[in-house]
Amino acid sequence: MPIATRAFAATAADAPLSPYSFDRRDPGPDDVAIEIKYCGVCHSDLHVAKNDLGNSRYPIVVGHEIAGVVTAVGANVSRFKEGDRVGVGCMVDSCRTCEACREGLEQYCVPGMTQTYGSPDPKGKEVGQAITQGGYSDRITVDQNYVLSIPDSIPLDAAAPLLCAGITTYSPLKTWGVGPGSKVAVIGLGGLGHMAVKLAAAMGAEVTVLSTSDRKKADAERMGAKHFLINSDKAAMQAAAEKFNLIINTVSATHEISSHINLLARDGTMVMLGLSTEGMPVFAVPLLWRRRRVAGSLIGGIRETQEMLDFCAEHGVACEIEVIAPDQINEAYQRMEKSDVRYRFVIDMGRFDKAA
Ligand code: NAP
Ligand code: ZN
Repeated sequence: MPIATRAFAATAADAPLSPYSFDRRDPGPDDVAIEIKYCGVCHSDLHVAKNDLGNSRYPIVVGHEIAGVVTAVGANVSRFKEGDRVGVGCMVDSCRTCEACREGLEQYCVPGMTQTYGSPDPKGKEVGQAITQGGYSDRITVDQNYVLSIPDSIPLDAAAPLLCAGITTYSPLKTWGVGPGSKVAVIGLGGLGHMAVKLAAAMGAEVTVLSTSDRKKADAERMGAKHFLINSDKAAMQAAAEKFNLIINTVSATHEISSHINLLARDGTMVMLGLSTEGMPVFAVPLLWRRRRVAGSLIGGIRETQEMLDFCAEHGVACEIEVIAPDQINEAYQRMEKSDVRYRFVIDMGRFDKAA
C-alpha cells in the first residue's frame, strides 16, 4: 500500500510553496519507512525552489535535513527497527560501485548520487513520482544504507539541521585537519556558518567570524568565536591579514572574495561552500605568494555523517533553531533572503493539521 504523504511543494520559481499531497513507496526489502517529525530549512532548498541554479523541475518538495522515527522496515533491514530515531540528509542513494562510493564518499559518486529531492527516481515510478521528493513532508521511504542514527541526547528538532548544515561544515574541518592550534575563520553566520563555528570550536580551533554587520556579534561569541570582524571594515581586514589556516566560506550569494584571500596564512585554504552560480574573481599573485589554495567541498559521506552526529552528541553540539509550522515556510524564506535567520528554521510536521 503506497504511503499517503502531506507536504509543501514549490510549483514554479515565482510561486509561494503550497500544500501538496502525494504517495511514498511502501518499504521494499532494504527500505526504512520514516515518519518525519522535523525538517530543517537549508538555503539550498530556497535556491532550488526559486530555480537559482536553472535546473529545477516542478512540482518539487524540497528539504534534506530530515529527522524522524522509523514506522516500518523491510525484510533485509537489520540496522533499524520501528521506533528508532533516524535522520536522512542530502542523498538517498548512489551507485555503490564507483571509487568514490567504495571510499565512503558517496556525495562524489561518479555517475551521480540520488539527491533527496529533484533527482530522477526509478523507485518512485510505482507511486507515480518521476523525481525524488524531499523532507517538507510527513513521510519518507529510504534505503537503509542512506539512513543515519540520531543519538538519544540530541533532540530531534535540533538534530535535523545537522544532516546538511552539520555535515557540510564538519567534513571540510576534518579534511583540512582542524584541531587545537588551528586558526579558522567562518564567513557568513547563517545555518552553515553557525555550525562551522560550533564544530571548529569543539575541535579546539581558535575561531573568527566574518559577517556583513555587527548584528550577530554577541551570538557568535556565545557559540565559541574568539574574534568577530565585519568584512567591509578595511582596517580590520588589513589587521587580520595572514592569520588563518582555514577559511570556511558559507556565503549564499555572489560576493567579493579576493580581499578574503589575504587573510590566509602560508599554505592556508579557503573552502567554498555556497552555491553561487556566477564567477568571482580570484587573483593569482596573492595565491602564489603564500602557496594559498581555494577549494570546494560538498556535504559529506554517509559514514562521516554518522561520525559527525556522534561527535555532536559527545561534545554537546546542536543547532540553534527557530521552529515553525509548515505554512510559515514562505515567511521563513523571505527572512532567509535578508540573512535574518537565527540560525536555522526547522519545520515541525506535527503542526501540519493547521495547514491542511
Ligand atoms: P543562510 O543560513 O542563509 O546563511 C548564509 C549567510 O551568508 C547569511 O547569514 C549571511 O551571513 C551571508 N550572506 C548572505 N548574503 C550575503 C552577501 N550578499 N554578501 C555577504 N554575505 C552574505 O544559508 P546556509 O543554509 O547556511 O547556506 C549557505 C550556502 O551554502 C548556500 O548557498 C547553500 O545553498 C550552500 N550549501 C552548500 C552545501 C555544500 O554541500 N557545499 C550544503 C548546504 C548548503 P551574515 O549575516 O553573517 O553576513
Ligand atoms: Zn542543505
